[in-house]
Amino acid sequence: MSLDIDYYELLEVERTADEAALKASYRKLAMKYHPDKNPGCGDSEARFKAISEAYDCLKDPQKRAAYDRFGKAGVNGGAGGFGGGNGADFGDIGDIFESIFGSAFGGGRQQRGPARGADLRYDMEIRLEDAFTGVTREIQVDVAARCETCDGSGAKPGTRTNRCSTCAGHGKVRAQQGFFVVERTCPTCQGAGEVIADPCNSCHGEGRVDRRKTLTVNIPAGVDEGTRIRLSGEGESGARGAAPGDLYIFLHMARHKVFEREGTTLFTRAPISFTTAALGGEISIPGLDGKKHDINIPAGIQSGKQLRQRGAGMPVLNGRGHGDLVIQIDVETPTRLTARQKELLCEFRETETGEECPASQGFFGRIKEMWDDLTD
Ligand SMILES: [Zn+2]
Ligand SMILES: [Zn+2]
Repeated sequence: MSLDIDYYELLEVERTADEAALKASYRKLAMKYHPDKNPGCGDSEARFKAISEAYDCLKDPQKRAAYDRFGKAGVNGGAGGFGGGNGADFGDIGDIFESIFGSAFGGGRQQRGPARGADLRYDMEIRLEDAFTGVTREIQVDVAARCETCDGSGAKPGTRTNRCSTCAGHGKVRAQQGFFVVERTCPTCQGAGEVIADPCNSCHGEGRVDRRKTLTVNIPAGVDEGTRIRLSGEGESGARGAAPGDLYIFLHMARHKVFEREGTTLFTRAPISFTTAALGGEISIPGLDGKKHDINIPAGIQSGKQLRQRGAGMPVLNGRGHGDLVIQIDVETPTRLTARQKELLCEFRETETGEECPASQGFFGRIKEMWDDLTD
C-alpha cells in the first residue's frame, strides 16, 4: 500500500529544503507514525512507509533531482523502463537523455509551467515619404491578453488551483516509447503543474481572452523593406499568467511614383529631349525632403549618364546623414514632329559633317576598316 502524496508534502518540508531540514522532519514524522507507537493502526503504518519511501528518495541528490523533474514515475521506474527497480539510477538516465537529445529534453525545473505567449507578426505597408521622415502609426491588433477577471490565473476569483495529480505538479510526465523513455508535457495540466477546479467564467480557465488592442508604433526614419520593429511584450499573453510574447511589425515599402530605392540611394530616370541633351539645360526634381533639386544638364550629355545629387537620398537608419539622389538621363528621340520641325531637321542634316558625333563616327570608321580587311 502506498499513499499517492507528493514527497515534499509527506515530509512536510518546502521544495527547497536542504538535507538537514529533510532529515530533521523525517525523524520527527517517523517517530510520530512508527508502527510500534501506533499498534494496530493501518493508516499510521501506511503513512510511515510512505514517509520512509519519500525520505529514501529525497536524501539521494540524484534521485531527488529525478523526482523534481519527472515526479514519482522518474524515481520508481514504474513503467518498467531502464532496468526497473534493479538499481538503475534515474539521475544518470537524465544525463543520457541530455546527451542524446540535447536541450530539447533538458531544461529541468526552470522550464516547468505554462509556455510563454506566442510572438505575433503584423505586416505593415508604408510610403517612401514616411520612411524618409519617420512616422508614428496606430495599429489595432486582436491578441490574446491576460484575463482581467482572474488576473490570468484561469481560476474563478476566490478559488484556488490544485496540484495536478497526473504529474505531481511537475508539468511533465515520462512515458516509455520503444527503447527510450520520453519526457513530455503533462496531458492533464498542459504543463502548468496545476489544475483548475473552478474555471474563471470570462476566459474558461485559459487565463487569457482575445482583446482588441490599440498600439502606437514609432517607425524611425530610414526603415526599408523587411525592417522589423519589435514591440516587447505586446504579443500573445502566456497561458495562466506566463510571460507574454513579442509583437513584430514587418515593414513593406509601397511602390513610389517617381523613385526607386537601393539602401539609402534614391534613384530615378529622367527622360530629356534631344535638344536639351545637345544644347544643355536644367531640370528640376522634387526630393522627398520637400525641396526642389535643380539639376544642371551639361551640353552633349548621353543617354544612360547618371547625375548624382549628394545628400538628397534616404536617411541612414539609426544613424546620421543621407544617401544620394541619382538621376539617370534618358535622351528621348522625338516621335511626333510637325512638318516644320522635319524641315528644320533635314536642313540640320545637310550641315552634318560627322564631327558632331564622334562616337558614331568612330564606330562606322571601325566597321569600314573591318570590311576593308575582309575584302582585301
Ligand atoms: Zn479568467
Ligand atoms: Zn499535470
